[in-house]
Amino acid sequence: MLQAPMFRAAIFTLYPDFFPGPLGQSLSGDALARGLWALETRQIREHGLGRHKSVDDSPAGGGPGMVIRADVLAASLDAGLAPDDPRPRLLMSPRGRPLTQSRVRELAQGPGVAIVCGRFEGVDERVIEARGLEEVSIGDYVLSGGELAAMVLLDACVRLIPGVMGKLESGSEESFEAGLLEYPHYTRPRDFEGRPIPEVLLSGDHAKIAAWRRAQALEITRARRPDLPKPK
Ligand code: SAH
Repeated sequence: MLQAPMFRAAIFTLYPDFFPGPLGQSLSGDALARGLWALETRQIREHGLGRHKSVDDSPAGGGPGMVIRADVLAASLDAGLAPDDPRPRLLMSPRGRPLTQSRVRELAQGPGVAIVCGRFEGVDERVIEARGLEEVSIGDYVLSGGELAAMVLLDACVRLIPGVMGKLESGSEESFEAGLLEYPHYTRPRDFEGRPIPEVLLSGDHAKIAAWRRAQALEITRARRPDLPKPK
């Protein structure tokens, strides 16, 4: 059988000590230890300028904060990635296209990702253009840096890598996979503080259970997320 290439993440950051952080625990941590994916960090500051290895400067045109220099980040990217590296080059950014489960699935099936983590006010626009960085947002709020955003993206990808999750089918019925939020789950005890498990789930009638779950998923999606595209 043709073996898919391992999913490899290269992280360009001013804070490599953030990694693997939470990705070193539980599902993603076990998978990392088992060699199902690989994580490499690159300290952008290694390409910083002068005695202080400076990486940022004040924004042209004025305004608060600092901006990561295009030349410094480009040098770090060029040193860390061969020109023919097939991995998509992502920049975590609140201006980016919001991350979706379908994009996560696409990325998880590929060779991995190269991710730039911004800090301060962000990065000089010209390096985004010159190195073809794809801006990706994890939501409409502002973090202090791209590291946690990169971890969110990686966590979502890694759990979809074949062999990482226990059951192969795990994931196929989850929220967003069919354009729907997931149906509610129940487990023992049968009665919790006077709340019984819905009768249908104990009926053993698999068709009836599937129909009930779909109806629940439709209702929850309609009520909570009318903005989601209509399910297929
Ligand atoms: N001045 C910027 C915010 C910079 S926040 C603006 O107004 O758009 C500093 C860094 O945190 C960013 O460069 C980015 O890498 C990261 N970041 C912040 N919020 C994020 C989000 N919602 N999604 C992804 N990355 C984010």
